[in-house]
Amino acid sequence: MTAQAPLNSFTITQRQLGSAASVLKLDPGILELLLWPMREIHVRIPVRMDNGSVRVFEGFRVHYNFARGPCKGGIRFHPEETVDTVRALAAWMTWKTAVMDLPLGGGKGGVICNPKEMSDGELQRLSRGYLRAIAHYISPEIDIPAPDVYTNPQIMAWMLDEYEGIVGRSAPGVITGKPLPLGGSAGRGDATARGGMYCLCQACKLLGLDPQGATCAIQGSGNAGQFAHLLGERLLGLKVVAVSDSKGGIYNPLGLPAKEVVAYKERVGSVVGFPGAESITNAELLELPVDILIPAAIENQITAENAPRIKAKIIAELANGPTTPEADELLFENEIFVIPDFLCNAGGVTVSHLEQVQNAMMYYWTAEEVHEKLERKMTAAFHAVHQTAQEHRVHNRLGAYLVAVQRVAAAMRLRGWA
Ligand code: GLU
Repeated sequence: MTAQAPLNSFTITQRQLGSAASVLKLDPGILELLLWPMREIHVRIPVRMDNGSVRVFEGFRVHYNFARGPCKGGIRFHPEETVDTVRALAAWMTWKTAVMDLPLGGGKGGVICNPKEMSDGELQRLSRGYLRAIAHYISPEIDIPAPDVYTNPQIMAWMLDEYEGIVGRSAPGVITGKPLPLGGSAGRGDATARGGMYCLCQACKLLGLDPQGATCAIQGSGNAGQFAHLLGERLLGLKVVAVSDSKGGIYNPLGLPAKEVVAYKERVGSVVGFPGAESITNAELLELPVDILIPAAIENQITAENAPRIKAKIIAELANGPTTPEADELLFENEIFVIPDFLCNAGGVTVSHLEQVQNAMMYYWTAEEVHEKLERKMTAAFHAVHQTAQEHRVHNRLGAYLVAVQRVAAAMRLRGWA
């Protein structure tokens, strides 16, 4: 068998942008600037490990585009992180904030490390070290980080504390996804999944699919996947029949009760082995006979190879970049309704923006107020994307690109960048 070159997410974002640019007949100058990040920071972080030795970690922060406002995007701690993945994720953040019409640009950070093999103390020293290394390139007006894969509110708290120590003043708006006592927003914890559920609700209406009792498979049990399971059940009445994590998946056609699965994973460390369920692989999960498929793990899971075997009617992408461009074409031909990642998972950054607003005014909203604002934003963005896709007779991802790229390009033109 010939080895296949691994898929490069950054090349994929460039190709996706290229397709949008040709539909929009985008000025070549704008396209040239949008094909690459505007600024990148590469850092090396010395961290004292528990055994007394010093280990050097490598990290990145990419400022992809700031025409519409300060850069915004999470920080990933991942053993397979590469600068190209961070560039891709920063590009998607640019389209995400634009499609949601937030006054923000796009950025992303990443550190090559395996948090599962680090103690709490090591993780805290790495988080503080990374923050020190990028401190002069972030601020509420320059770039505002947030949680992402394998980072969480506790890590945001350490980073905020480090930043405030450096600048010598309170600056809660420099980072979002903070714990509530440090200026976090009500409703930020489940915002990514909740935003996806609001989109899914609209998609079901369009397709005439009753979500009550509709079957659903969720790949991934991180923040997005777990809350999608809980909220899918609670808000929409979905019957979730399969879930997975990095160790494998479980399937029970009779349904998997969210609370019990989450409690089991908490206790055992994985969903695998959940009583009464059949063990399946992550790849098998994607091809199950379900109404709704929710990829909520990592990039490049749905490819030209497995796309023809996908049976779901709706794919709600809570992960960033789960589908390759070739797979997009195949899914479109097979009339599978895709809610594309940077729309479907934009609930996180939308509530991050609400968190920044609350930090700036030093006045905090209730969870109900946040949910209501989020639902209004998600529903408006969903219909803007769907309508644009219909008008141009293209798939929803390209529709989302058309909406987002037009908005970013308009800001660039006004600034005289082209
Ligand atoms: N990491 C999340 C994302 O990919 C949230 C980013 C943010 O809140 O800034 O959208």
